[in-house]
Amino acid sequence: MAHSVFMSRQLTENTYIITGSGGDCYLLLGEDEAFLIDAGMSTENIRAFAQSLTDLPLRRVINTHSHFDHTAGNGFFDVIYGTAGISRSAKNTMGSDPAKYPLDYTFTLVKDGDVIDLKGRPLKVIELDCHAPGNLAILDETNRMLFPGDELEAGQVLLLPGYAEEMGQVHSRPASTVETYRNAMQKLKSFEDKFDIICPAHNGTPICKAYLDRYIRLAEMILAGEIVGDPDCSSPSYNAGASHYPYPDAGYLRAEYEDASLIYNKYLIFDADYPKAADLPNATLCHEKSAKTARQ
Ligand SMILES: [Zn+2]
Repeated sequence: MAHSVFMSRQLTENTYIITGSGGDCYLLLGEDEAFLIDAGMSTENIRAFAQSLTDLPLRRVINTHSHFDHTAGNGFFDVIYGTAGISRSAKNTMGSDPAKYPLDYTFTLVKDGDVIDLKGRPLKVIELDCHAPGNLAILDETNRMLFPGDELEAGQVLLLPGYAEEMGQVHSRPASTVETYRNAMQKLKSFEDKFDIICPAHNGTPICKAYLDRYIRLAEMILAGEIVGDPDCSSPSYNAGASHYPYPDAGYLRAEYEDASLIYNKYLIFDADYPKAADLPNATLCHEKSAKTARQ
C-alpha cells in the first residue's frame, strides 16, 4: 500500500508486526480469518492496511490496554475486544482531537481466562492490570507466542496511574505498586511452559522469555530494598520531552536489572501503600490533558 504511515514485517509464516504509528500491532493469520492485536494510533485506516497483507478476511481486533496508542483505530473494525477496565478509557484521546478518530464503536467484553475462537489459533486472555487498568496479555499456545502489550518489554515498563475514565479525572486509579507488578509477572510465569517468545508493543520484538525472570528479579530486589531506582527516568525511548514522562515531584524512579527496567513510584512499593496514592501529586502532563478528553 503506497504512502501509508504503517509498515509491516513478517515475523513468522502466520504473523506480521505492523509498526509506524502508536504501539506496534500484530496481525495473526488463523485458518479462515485474520485477527489484529492492538489498533495503533493513526487517522489512517489500519484495518485496510492490514487487510492488504492477506486474503483472509479481517474483522476483529483486541486491545492489550486502553492507551490511545493502542486503541485509536478500533472504530475501523466490526468487533473490538477488551476487558471492562480497557473499555472505560479506550476512547480517551489523551489530548488529541477526538473528531479525527473513529470513536463510534462498542466493546465486546472479555475477561481473564477467556479464549478467543480464532480457528486453528485460539487466543487465551490473561488479565494483568498493571501498566493500565484491565491490561491483558494474549497467549497463543499453538504458535508458542505471548503478546503482553506494554506489561513486559525491553525498553521500560511504566507503572503510571490510570488515565481519565470521566471528564475532569486526572488519575482514574493509582499506579500499580511494585508488589502488584511482581505478582502479575509471577502469574505470567505460571504459563511459561506454553510460550517461547514474547512479542511486546514497543521497543523491539520478539524478545526472549528470560525477560520474565529478569522483571520478577528486579521487582523482588526493589521490594527487598536491595535496589533503589534513579530519579532520572529517561532512556532513548522515554524522555522528559514526552507528555507521559513523570513530573519531577511525582515520586517516580527508574530501576534496572540486566536490561529489564521498571519505572515505579517510590511511594507505592507494597500493596499496603495504596492508601497513600490519594495524596500524590499529578503524575504527568498527559494525565492532565487526558482529564479533558475523556469520553465513553
Ligand atoms: Zn503503548
